[in-house]
Amino acid sequence: MPDLKDLEIGVMFWAGGDPRTTIQEVKSFGVQCGQLGVPGDLDLTGAAEQWKQAAAAEDFHISTVFCAYRGENYADIPTVQKTVGLIPPETRKERLQRTLEASDFAADVGVKSIATHIGFVPHNPAHPDYKDVCRMVQEICDHAAQHHQTFALETGQEPADVLLKFIEAVGRPNLGINFDPANMIMYGTGDPILALDVLSGKLLSVHCKDGTWPPKGSPSALGVEQPLGCGAVGMQLFLAKLRQIGYRGALNVEREAEDPEQRKADIRMGVQLLEQLRG
Ligand code: MG
Repeated sequence: MPDLKDLEIGVMFWAGGDPRTTIQEVKSFGVQCGQLGVPGDLDLTGAAEQWKQAAAAEDFHISTVFCAYRGENYADIPTVQKTVGLIPPETRKERLQRTLEASDFAADVGVKSIATHIGFVPHNPAHPDYKDVCRMVQEICDHAAQHHQTFALETGQEPADVLLKFIEAVGRPNLGINFDPANMIMYGTGDPILALDVLSGKLLSVHCKDGTWPPKGSPSALGVEQPLGCGAVGMQLFLAKLRQIGYRGALNVEREAEDPEQRKADIRMGVQLLEQLRG
């Protein structure tokens, strides 16, 4: 795989179709790198070799394998709490296995980082879920370390200081974050630019995504994802802050619009916006 340049623009994309065709579609946005999302129900048997060959043939850099899980639902805040990530107790064992499997898959493709949404980390370290999930994340980190991988937790479902304390409680050097500024806004968990000051030492990768704050007066509702530059993040501020704290990794455009054509158009626009802002 080719090396990444400083602040290289990439795209968050998903496995499912033919790997080579998928990478060609991502390259059509004008990028040479990206983060590969692996849906929870995707059979990974034998898939790594195909992805490795496709990336090599297309001279494409996959920087992260993102692990999603069967049964996750992002409809509103209570549904996210019940279904997303490593926090819900009833799916913890199955999702631990899936994450280890994703780490093995990433290693076979030649990818040096894995990532996931952990879900809502409890604010109180005395909560029984806190200790259990801490142990689970330690196990994932130790497994990933054998493959010389980092493990990134996606930000947004808790304030920056809660996430930082949790990472310190896990106590593994290869654990960090995939910073998503839009999530912090959409979940109403804090100003993402200020959060970067708190979390800068743990920054492994970033999503460039935009969104609006949750509607006032409805505590269970999420804000709405927007095309890059059309939400409340302020991409110019975000990039300036990333530079200020010395971040040099990829800028991964993430857009999950339901209409696939709209999604493609928005990603293309997002890549162009970042090219302009990055200079
Ligand atoms: Mg994200």
